[in-house]
Amino acid sequence: MICLGIEGTAHTISVGVVKDLNEKCKVLSNVIKIYKPEQGGIHPREAANHHTKFVADLIKDSVKKANIGFTDIDLVSFSKGPGMGPCLRTAATAARALALSLDKPIMGVNHCVAHLEIGRGTLSDCKDPVLLYVSGANTQIIAFAEGKYRVFGETLDIGIGNCLDKFGRTVGLDFPCGPAIEQFALKWKKYLDLPYSIKGMDIAFSGLLTAAEQYYKSGERLEDICYSIQETTFAALTEVTERAMAHTEKDEVLLGGGVAANKRLREMVQIMAKERKASFFVPSKDLCIDNGAMIAWLGVLMHNSGIRMKVENSFIDQRFRTDMADVTWRD
Ligand code: AMP
Ligand code: MG
Repeated sequence: MICLGIEGTAHTISVGVVKDLNEKCKVLSNVIKIYKPEQGGIHPREAANHHTKFVADLIKDSVKKANIGFTDIDLVSFSKGPGMGPCLRTAATAARALALSLDKPIMGVNHCVAHLEIGRGTLSDCKDPVLLYVSGANTQIIAFAEGKYRVFGETLDIGIGNCLDKFGRTVGLDFPCGPAIEQFALKWKKYLDLPYSIKGMDIAFSGLLTAAEQYYKSGERLEDICYSIQETTFAALTEVTERAMAHTEKDEVLLGGGVAANKRLREMVQIMAKERKASFFVPSKDLCIDNGAMIAWLGVLMHNSGIRMKVENSFIDQRFRTDMADVTWRD
């Protein structure tokens, strides 16, 4: 089975083609185009216009790079949610048009679950992980329990990537700001106290963001503030992930989302995993960020487990929560 998947939940429009090799995923192509606002945050309509402009070329490009023909495609999948309405609609519309023109089935998939399944599908020993999903808009700790992917902890306000980007914007860095913050943090001299707010299993970042901005206004070194933001937020994320692993008795941890590129976050989670004698996994960068290949792969899993979707019912769902997805393809 070969599936073409279209991702379009937020700033990224991406098309990937994957092949099912005995329940493991072979990525044939994965082309990604990221919308960068000229100033400020992401405007959903502007991002959707960007996706409209590029999606057709990305589809052609992904098929070409996969070295297949359009007639080789057995299934078309798209990100059903969660995400920004205009962006989701653009990806879904492209998927519907393609599925109808090829006369092939369509599948809308949960974006957060796709981040986890691409780890299981492409990393050979990754079988039942706790996922620390750290992206711009989303921050969730997800694991499989009693028939569903459940959220064991999440942000109560903004995503960790958003927190980094908002701080970066305040101090004049280009979007996305995470990579620059990581570089500044390497040159730290002192740790500055920031609010460490974990509530139960959930985390809040906006108080920390305000405090960090105040440090900047009061003249503290940017390097020290960047370091302190990373140390504080990543420690909180690692703590909640560890608690989820203890609770679910799982011995694998997987990273996903754009912030998973950060070496310090990887290091902290890796140390935690080692101390628990657990395995640590992180997919390749293009499979960590929002991408079409993971959408294609979850489409394959759902289709193979018997799920079918009609074009006329292929709605998007901006608030499609991780635990709303029926998991029929594993136990
Ligand atoms: P996503 O929403 O999953 O596509 O991820 C985008 C987010 O990842 C943005 O908020 C970026 O600032 C963040 N990001 C990318 N690279 C890094 C990095 N090296 N360190 C921290 N954050 C990063
Ligand atoms: Mg994502």
